[in-house]
Amino acid sequence: MTEARTLWLTGLSGAGKSTIAVALKERFEAAGRMSAVLDGDAVRTGLCADLGFSPEARSENIRRVAHVCKLFNDAGLTVIVAMISPYMDDRRNAQIVIGASRFVEVHIATTLEVCERRDPKGLYSKARAGLIPQFTGITAPYEAPATPSCQLDTAVTSVSECVAILYALAGTSEPTSS
Ligand code: ADP
Repeated sequence: MTEARTLWLTGLSGAGKSTIAVALKERFEAAGRMSAVLDGDAVRTGLCADLGFSPEARSENIRRVAHVCKLFNDAGLTVIVAMISPYMDDRRNAQIVIGASRFVEVHIATTLEVCERRDPKGLYSKARAGLIPQFTGITAPYEAPATPSCQLDTAVTSVSECVAILYALAGTSEPTSS
């Protein structure tokens, strides 16, 4: 038995974070285990709707989400975070808030070239056209984790393979839904 963990998926837009997070949540459900997904886009429609994309706003965005993760983990719930979270310092601070033993940093390390080719939301073409300022990977930095618990390149690793790897990393203490 292990304590409930936060799987923190960081990576470029289009890397596959949300897709993997949703599939992983379904995997937990199939096993009768509850989990929560905190997705960057969803978080920005509510909890963090007042924040922009400056470095300071991104830090505050991560800080709030980290505290939600801590509360959920305290309640015994596994959390899957899908957020670009481009700055090392912000992720380090999230690790401190959540707790080093619970925080599992996962780098969805799909290359910029692949992400831009996928462009699932059309954001890269808008960023290239100058329509989106401070776009990570184009006009804002992405600081890759130096020592992530896990690194997955979705150009070569399928969604189901990613899910299997992350499911194993999540530990075993979560409450069942029954
Ligand atoms: P992010 O949340 O990182 O911005 P999304 O999950 O929204 O990324 O988009 C990733 C896109 O890449 C989706 O269109 C998804 O179908 C596609 N994709 C292709 N292969 C994979 C894979 N192995 N893992 C995750 N996504 C993949």
